[in-house]
Amino acid sequence: MKISEIYRKGAVPISFEIFPPKGELAESDVRSVLTSLADTKPAYISVTCSAGGSSGSENKTSELCRITEREFGIASAAHITCVNSTRAEVDAAAESIRSAGITNMLALRGDRREGCASTDFRFGAELIEYLRSDPRNDGICIGAGCYPEGHVECLDLDEDIAHLREKQDAGAEFLISQLFFSNSSFYDFIEKARAKGVTLPVDAGIMPIMGKSQVTRMIFLCGASLPSDVVKMLYKYESDPESLIRASLERTVRQIDELIASGAADGIHLYTMNKPSVAKYIMENVNGRI
Ligand code: FAD
Repeated sequence: MKISEIYRKGAVPISFEIFPPKGELAESDVRSVLTSLADTKPAYISVTCSAGGSSGSENKTSELCRITEREFGIASAAHITCVNSTRAEVDAAAESIRSAGITNMLALRGDRREGCASTDFRFGAELIEYLRSDPRNDGICIGAGCYPEGHVECLDLDEDIAHLREKQDAGAEFLISQLFFSNSSFYDFIEKARAKGVTLPVDAGIMPIMGKSQVTRMIFLCGASLPSDVVKMLYKYESDPESLIRASLERTVRQIDELIASGAADGIHLYTMNKPSVAKYIMENVNGRI
């Protein structure tokens, strides 16, 4: 199923992001994660890829998408990146996704890898335009990333939104946001993006905090800000990791409930970190889900 059609069904869809395990794809591990995730009935599951050139990681991504769709009956989206890739490598990644029978791609620039010389693509919009120019992708629904607090490399949110509009104009059909902890930043972003003519459905990307080192790493990678209640939560439970996780999951449920009630988010995309227990808690506790 095309993800662009999921939003027409009424209720706000909740979807998941998972990543392929490192090393060999251990099928039993993958199936056990997917079995638990499938029980919670996500609207779709997106599968990350490493921004890889010729690393071959796209095969793992498309295989995981294939298992998600064929064995678990859940729509999937394969991430595809470009910044470290030549056109031929992007063609190979897209072919791997199409031949696995997947009809959704999340097209992203990826993070530059040191020593990688490819200059075929500079930005996500160029990848979307390139994929759209290939008639073999005619039946593919393409999504893109967006950044409620601005992309970490861009200091001006208005400029970032102008580049987001370029992704829509290039043919993106849905958007998934970077994680954020403060809903007000998402509401402001949506208002500005809509005013600039971004009309695509936007899934709000939500990541539950599992520990101080995880959240510190993430905010440096993506530039999301930490509201003071999160800082206080981290401080309060500094030496009690179990209570921190419990408090964080409760906060995540409140964050999602508020987003859904606001009407600003067209969908919720949960960064599951391949932890079914986290996804299950949230799906069972978000208002009106079960
Ligand atoms: P772009 O749209 O390419 O923007 C990147 C920067 O360039 C921004 O600062 C933007 O303002 C600027 N820019 C854009 N166009 C122009 C222009 N014409 N002129 C000047 N500046 C411009 N990474 C992975 O490697 N693998 C994954 O699986 C993955 N999954 C992700 C999933 C989601 C939902 C999100 C939000 C991100 C994901 N990422 C992933 C990270 C992503 O690849 C990085 O954040 C990357 O740096 C940006 O990619 P983009 O296509 O969204 O950004």
